[in-house]
Amino acid sequence: HLYGDERRNSRGMNIHVAADLDPLLNHLSQWSATSWEAAPVIGGEKRREGNPGEITAPYDMTRPVGQVYWSSEAQAAEALSVAAAGFPAWRDRPVEDRARCLERYADLMESHMEELMAICCREAGKTMQDGIDEVREAVDFCRYYAIQGRARFGDAMALPGPTGESNELYMEGRGVFLCISPWNFPLAIFTGQIMAALVAGNAVIAKPAEQTSLVAGRAFELMLEAGFPPDVIQLLPGDGATIGGKLTPDPRIAGVAFTGSTEVAHILNRTLAQREGAIVPLIAETGGQNAMIVDSSALPEQVVRDVIQSAFVSAGQRCSALRVLYIQKDVAGRMEELLAGAMQELSIGNPELHSTDVGPVIDGEALSGLQSHLEELDRGSRLIARVPLSEACQSGYFVPPSAYGISGINELKNEHFGPILHVVHYTAEKLDEVIDEINATGYGLTLGIHSRSESTAAYIERRVKVGNTYVNRNQIGAVVGVQPFGGRGLSGTGPKAGGPHYLLRFATERTRTINT
Ligand code: GLU
Repeated sequence: HLYGDERRNSRGMNIHVAADLDPLLNHLSQWSATSWEAAPVIGGEKRREGNPGEITAPYDMTRPVGQVYWSSEAQAAEALSVAAAGFPAWRDRPVEDRARCLERYADLMESHMEELMAICCREAGKTMQDGIDEVREAVDFCRYYAIQGRARFGDAMALPGPTGESNELYMEGRGVFLCISPWNFPLAIFTGQIMAALVAGNAVIAKPAEQTSLVAGRAFELMLEAGFPPDVIQLLPGDGATIGGKLTPDPRIAGVAFTGSTEVAHILNRTLAQREGAIVPLIAETGGQNAMIVDSSALPEQVVRDVIQSAFVSAGQRCSALRVLYIQKDVAGRMEELLAGAMQELSIGNPELHSTDVGPVIDGEALSGLQSHLEELDRGSRLIARVPLSEACQSGYFVPPSAYGISGINELKNEHFGPILHVVHYTAEKLDEVIDEINATGYGLTLGIHSRSESTAAYIERRVKVGNTYVNRNQIGAVVGVQPFGGRGLSGTGPKAGGPHYLLRFATERTRTINT
């Protein structure tokens, strides 16, 4: 029962069909003028101290979304004391109680689906489809981890031994987990980390990305409503350096789950390593420099569809997104022509409109970084296609989806987290060099392969060091319990979110031997 997953993932919606779209638009319109608020929540109490920050929509800086009260260092310290005191009782509760809380929270998210989608859209610039996927993934994480939790944390496992001795293995929570989540999956990853830690019997301090504190704040209210004890879950919206800087050196933090940049993962790792006392785990899921290799046997129309999705959905703001497309030279001209044509079909703009395919990037800093990368590409690289931006895009942080020809993945010094695709031509005899070049980046998250030759696909799959390989399809949108997701090397410490071993990373194993 550890690997069998008879659960069903939550229901999807087809926003191209009126029967699904019309009621959804109707529900969403109720939230179009709402202003949300987030604040630190310590021991179940919301702390509104100091002046709140005003949050506006990334696609329209004149559109208000809500207010956030940022956490102070003193509040971080207080949250830790409360969580540390709440931990032992939670650890000792039967896993069934904990799993039920996860399921109640999943139900609550489903019944608040439109509101959560609306905040994801207004605060994070998520398109309608991304908003639906976001809530579904969060719900699926809860139900999946509830089942995995029951299997792992229920009865102790009886082990053999000599007559007169009983041996058992069981799992328990580690202590207080600090969960630091990213803005690109402000509900799904926020939820996934916290639920994994909680069902495993840990107390949690949640530090959501500053850019998406409102989604996190509302989701956190639903967690309390679902019955998670107020001394077990604490919320600290705010600055990463302030909160992380205060908490990670503290011996009461028993583990850190982090999704974000490789750079911050290194900082966390160093801080934890410098601590005296216990050696604590860091669960890190970081960036990628993801490639897709397309050989001359691939089906061009299918390739183009999958490239468009992999590179431009969510405005390329997924760590799984395709950054470098390797096309075998013989077919490159034709593929690029088709790709350029398909890119012009993309609709860029306000994500509140269901016809929008590509929304904004998250903030001004992301915009200026991507703009300078485009300027650099303009200076020396071959432009394949760029989708023009409309007037309306001027009031937000929009990057035109673009594709450029470059010489190789090693030309890129950083991960460019946006809708910019780089294309490289290769010849069949250089395939091994392509593989070496991809591995040399040090990242290892997703890999796409398009080939009708099974042996070529298998050859590439064995040699490129990544966490998730996708053959003859797109390379984003890993599904809970279906494509456990996570990478290696510069891309992370290897845990697979939504996979059967994920919870083990949050727990400690104990053996009990009794001479009877
Ligand atoms: N799980 C997501 C996907 O498969 C990516 C997660 C991330 O960007 O952190 O697209």
